[in-house]
Amino acid sequence: MSTENLFDPDLFNASVMNTYGRFDIALEKGKGCRVWDTNGKEYLDFVAGIATCTLGHAHPALVETVTKQIQKLHHVSNLYYIPEQGALANWLTDHSCLDKVFFCNSGAEANEAAIKLIRKYAHTVLDFLEKPVILTAKASFHGRTLATVTATGQPKYQKDFEPLMEGFYYIPYNDIEAVDNAIADIDEGNQRVAAVMIEPLQGEGGVRPGNPEYFSHLRKICDENQILLVFDEVQVGMGRSGKLWGYEHLGVEPDILTSAKGLGGGIPIGAMLCKDFCDVLSPGTHASTFGGNPFACAVGLTVCETLEKDNLLENVEQRGEQLRSKLTGIISKYPDIFEEVRGWGLINGLEIKEESKITSIEIVNQAIIEGLLLVPAGPKVLRFLPPLIVSEAEINEAVDKLDKALSKF
Ligand SMILES: *Cc1c(COP(=O)(O)O)cnc(C)c1O
Repeated sequence: MSTENLFDPDLFNASVMNTYGRFDIALEKGKGCRVWDTNGKEYLDFVAGIATCTLGHAHPALVETVTKQIQKLHHVSNLYYIPEQGALANWLTDHSCLDKVFFCNSGAEANEAAIKLIRKYAHTVLDFLEKPVILTAKASFHGRTLATVTATGQPKYQKDFEPLMEGFYYIPYNDIEAVDNAIADIDEGNQRVAAVMIEPLQGEGGVRPGNPEYFSHLRKICDENQILLVFDEVQVGMGRSGKLWGYEHLGVEPDILTSAKGLGGGIPIGAMLCKDFCDVLSPGTHASTFGGNPFACAVGLTVCETLEKDNLLENVEQRGEQLRSKLTGIISKYPDIFEEVRGWGLINGLEIKEESKITSIEIVNQAIIEGLLLVPAGPKVLRFLPPLIVSEAEINEAVDKLDKALSKF
């Protein structure tokens, strides 16, 4: 049955909370890097569920795993050993600098787990710490729960949700002096910096890559002061950057890493990974009913193995270079609109000039008309996040569609 006659936005809005500024289309099916709306119109999907559908839509390997696992066993409690969870954890620790994994269902939950781990480490290992403080960056994004929205260094996400959590302090991103000053300022009485929680590349904050010099300084100052270094790789991790993890671009290792979005290829899963020395969560101190269930973990493992088997990291690097080079051409063609293109692999941002009156959302709306899905990263940056399987021809097609959209301004 077609949903064409069933879909009614007014009926939708009558019952669904108004928490999203929705674009005026309803998507009903997908294949590879393409999706179709309820009117049968086709789009190239350069949003991929916001950096989530790693293998695109209806990928045969995902379809096979989902089908097999739901028939075998989809959910049991963490009161029992779950072999699929162990297999995914083994893969992740074999392919990263981290040693242990806790599974949950989303990026915010992975960061919540990291925040709890930081506090427990501060209280039990650095037992003189009454008030551990976590430094996070301005323009960061860490999630929407009360603790993670507090960690998020953007007042627009925090407004009207006060009182926020205690124990967070914001520093400008990529600013070496500011982090030194913050650590010194906070070290007073019963409070001290216990962790720095930061994105290797800021996604929502405008696709801003970390500076390797800044990150190597962070690593050094954290080592010198017994401060945990936590990388939020929810958006940039799992191959999106052209390397499996964003930290590989920066030449430093985190003590704790969080992953989610791309990890399940669109099936909800989150993970918080840590090194052995800070693995302090004991039975009863943290849990998740759904976290790490057989279904989500079997899917996650399929995503990981497909990345490896199909050599997708190489594709991400090549397609990323191709995309940035094509977008550089777009900047030359529309010099009054665009400032620069930046990013790693297949997470890229095209920045609109401050003085241009055009906003990212207006371009996204025009691109939708041309059959291309893009997502803003703030009012002045267009974000490109295609599935990691995207082809050379699809990159060219997307930029052609963007060009057509831009010619309307
Ligand atoms: C999306 C995102 C989150 C939040 O993930 P959810 O699954 O929406 O809770 C956290 N950190 C970063 C860097 C993200 O991009």
